[in-house]
Amino acid sequence: MAKKDVIVLNSHGAGQYAYADHMPKWGETLSVKNWYVAEDGGKGTNVAVALGRLGIDTAYIGKVGNDPWGDLGEKWLKEAGADATYMYRTDEVSTGTGLILIGPEGQNTVIDGDSSSIVLKEEEVIQALDNMKGSTFFVTGFEVPMRIALAGAKYAKKLGMLTVLNPSPLPEEPMKKLDYIDYLFINEVEGRYICNEAEDAELEPRRLMEEVQEIYGVGNVIMTLGAEGSTALQGEEFFNIPPVRVEKVVNTAGAGDGFMAAAIANLVWGKTLKEAMEWAGKYAALSVTINGTIPAYRPLDEVNAFIE
Ligand code: ATP
Repeated sequence: MAKKDVIVLNSHGAGQYAYADHMPKWGETLSVKNWYVAEDGGKGTNVAVALGRLGIDTAYIGKVGNDPWGDLGEKWLKEAGADATYMYRTDEVSTGTGLILIGPEGQNTVIDGDSSSIVLKEEEVIQALDNMKGSTFFVTGFEVPMRIALAGAKYAKKLGMLTVLNPSPLPEEPMKKLDYIDYLFINEVEGRYICNEAEDAELEPRRLMEEVQEIYGVGNVIMTLGAEGSTALQGEEFFNIPPVRVEKVVNTAGAGDGFMAAAIANLVWGKTLKEAMEWAGKYAALSVTINGTIPAYRPLDEVNAFIE
């Protein structure tokens, strides 16, 4: 039986960028400059790689194609020390990828491919969880089908794990009670959406988190606020974590995934939620100073050096 500190169930993908001087017409062969694969995983590989680099014993569950993008995900996980045993493979659908064509003025056109995450089966998730009974945390989100993510969380809870959910991308259908979720990580957009609140409704973060608790029955609600830091409602205890200012923000993509991974790592280390979020805020602040997503998740020694 392979017990883990953290099991991550979510997607893997890798976008491709290319710079073009004009849009191609049908039938045209267009030569583009600087075609490269972005080092930003799906949310599953982001979180698993971030945790692995912090020295957390992590396993990934998800499905990729038999293609170079899937191989890349496996390589990222292994290099981070994460277990890729349950990175299932399929010939049915390719690994999530897309072509992001950047125009001369920075405008972009995206051709987004289907992701092999859509053919991940519930039985595969259950089998992986059965083989990792006794693990501590289970983390998921909606870049795998919502039904599979929630079934995985329910089963992980049944097996005695602490469960974490980030309802992103926004749920494709209304969610029912989430009383089997121990920690819900949201940003303000997700919070308002799942509470049916208008985007511009006047609503303090605290009130929004109370609504989330009331509607979904989750005790610990953690809300990230971008450059404004983060805030949480732990049962009835409310706290704010002030932002960590950095000299130059280079790229905030994936900051939320990194923040969540860093907070979970601290919970594994036995820290309180408040301590975990303070550390995660520093970790995420370092990440926004680095370009790309996967490259921005730094190992423990570098994060500690940044914090000191
Ligand atoms: P994404 O979906 O792009 O990963 P998110 O909306 O889930 O993002 P954010 O709230 O943007 O997540 O960011 C997560 C955390 O990262 C914040 O709570 C904060 O601690 C940190 N962070 C984000 N932007 C900045 C910034 N400009 N300066 C310092 N820290 C930041």
